[in-house]
Amino acid sequence: MKANPVRPVIYDFKCLRCGWCCTKMEAVVVKPPMVQFMAQHLDMSLEEFKDTYTFTRDDNTLVRQPCPFYDGKGCKIYENRPQACRDFPIVLIHKDAVGVNDGCKAIKDRGVMKREVEKAHEKSHILFIMMDSCRSDVFQKANTPNFSRVGEKGAAGAFACFTTPSVLGYMANFPPQLPQTYRPVLFPDTEQATPWAPTYFRERGYYTAWLSGNPMIHNFDMGTKLFSSTFDYYESMRYNLSPQAIVEIAKDVESVVSNADKEGKPVFMCILLMDTHMPYNDEQVYHFETEDFETNFANQVKAVEYIDKWFPAFVQPFLKTGKGVHTIVTADHGELMGEKIGDVHYWGHDPRDDHVVISTQLFKIPWLEAFIIPENRSEYELEVGSDSTTETLLNSLVDRVGIDKAKSLLKKKRKELNKNAADIPA
Ligand code: SF4
Ligand code: SF4
Ligand SMILES: [Zn+2]
Repeated sequence: MKANPVRPVIYDFKCLRCGWCCTKMEAVVVKPPMVQFMAQHLDMSLEEFKDTYTFTRDDNTLVRQPCPFYDGKGCKIYENRPQACRDFPIVLIHKDAVGVNDGCKAIKDRGVMKREVEKAHEKSHILFIMMDSCRSDVFQKANTPNFSRVGEKGAAGAFACFTTPSVLGYMANFPPQLPQTYRPVLFPDTEQATPWAPTYFRERGYYTAWLSGNPMIHNFDMGTKLFSSTFDYYESMRYNLSPQAIVEIAKDVESVVSNADKEGKPVFMCILLMDTHMPYNDEQVYHFETEDFETNFANQVKAVEYIDKWFPAFVQPFLKTGKGVHTIVTADHGELMGEKIGDVHYWGHDPRDDHVVISTQLFKIPWLEAFIIPENRSEYELEVGSDSTTETLLNSLVDRVGIDKAKSLLKKKRKELNKNAADIPA
């Protein structure tokens, strides 16, 4: 069984914008809805766009080659470029397998071998991260170099505006939906009508894990164990609502993944983070003002930025196993932040509260998806976030490479952190 190879990326890949893939490769196929988006991007009618830029082969629409949208520096329709361009230099070999096109200059320069990437894809891990109550506009606004390094930040629609129905829905294969062409699924095949994620993956040899201090899921589970019994690892009480919770979670991710790897198992892991839950954690204290939208918005932005610092600490234990990790970052639902409608300020998300009104902001949530593939390096990338991140990562690095080497890597990374985040492939 393999994870759905959608939106794959090589961790920390830096496109050199050499234009080779845009000018020298086979023509790219574009599916009908995408053709529409590309035409809209250029303010053209569908017919005009097709006549000018595409041709047809075996009933497929293809972009002419060399690509007319490459302007010598980059892509003129970057936000609406075809899926194949987004994924490059990862290419689909067949339905279930990805490979690397080693004609890509950046790949040649970094010495990533095709074979290693393909190996990473076998029985890859799945990491499903939810930021509780996080709105999609907050996610867009936040400065998140680590998230941006692995994929594009998008928006999706939640099915519910409260934690319990939302999370239970996700586990039953009702993941957030995207507005455009691509419908995400949690399960690579749909032979079962309503599979339950942890059971489904466990039956297929995965180690399944739930890590969250969310009290609603905890309450739901308390009497019946209906939820927790389907996870091999289930932890909730230990992660208190505090900035320290994420530190504990990161430590546990590391030990869960490494233990599962010793048993030769890939991991299906769900993490529901409470830092974005009202009141919002800005790394020091929690804030929420029921009537002050701007303050609340700014504080949830800080909470997302705090989570972003920890993102590498969640991903790296997976990459250390030498396998790839299909990663999703989203939310269970959105949030009202004190918006005034008439004379009333609305805040929170529980639809049973008087101070909540059903609004699109309760359903518009973040979406980021990437298949992150490790490179065959003896040292793993070290990202420097808050001091506590640094400490955790330094400790784990010391174990692997020794103290001197760890210190010099840390110093190097600190310098690099001041530079901008890597671009994703053009
Ligand atoms: S990325 Fe843009 S310029 Fe390059 S091939 Fe795709 S559409 Fe053309
Ligand atoms: S992905 Fe970037 S580096 Fe690789 S061939 Fe295309 S433009 Fe060049
Ligand atoms: Zn929630």
